[in-house]
Amino acid sequence: MTTEQTLLQRSHSKCELCSAEDKLSVYSLPPEEQDTAEQSILICNTCHGQISQTNPVDENHWHCLNDSMWSTVPVVQVMAWRLLKALSSSSWAQDLLDMLYLDPEMQTWAESHSLNIVTDEENDATLDSNGSQLLAGDTVTLIKDLDVKGAGFTAKRGTVVKNIALTDNPKHIEGRVNGVRIVLVANFLKKVI
Ligand SMILES: [Zn+2]
Repeated sequence: MTTEQTLLQRSHSKCELCSAEDKLSVYSLPPEEQDTAEQSILICNTCHGQISQTNPVDENHWHCLNDSMWSTVPVVQVMAWRLLKALSSSSWAQDLLDMLYLDPEMQTWAESHSLNIVTDEENDATLDSNGSQLLAGDTVTLIKDLDVKGAGFTAKRGTVVKNIALTDNPKHIEGRVNGVRIVLVANFLKKVI
């Protein structure tokens, strides 16, 4: 039997983290990444996308760990522990982590790799050209001349924009230039501290 077949049997053809039944694939735990059933889990597309950072992490999705952390399969428990650890800045995840007891050998295994996942919150931050986070009410300056489409003027490099507002798009802010409220690309701005 292939690893995939073994895992399909073990998991009853469900994602071993969230129980979804769609688009299941084998995920071998780093750092070993050995393609054996003992070192791999079967996970769905959603879980896979977030673990591999193809998609931003939706923290709500991971409440599924509430169930899967009690799996009788060691590798699933290890993965649940790693995910909870990565999310442990949120109190619900820390609470679950506190409840999840692993025997010393598994604990060592779990700690041998840390997942680097980006949660929504961090991902949604609006950053200026220096990577400083911009917040509503901040003052910024333009770091290059910008043509303001529709308004018929060029906002000059060095223009100060006070009291900015954030938008739904983390890459954009709104501010008033020459008395006109316009959308500016955060990457072309510098926060004035
Ligand atoms: Zn899943």
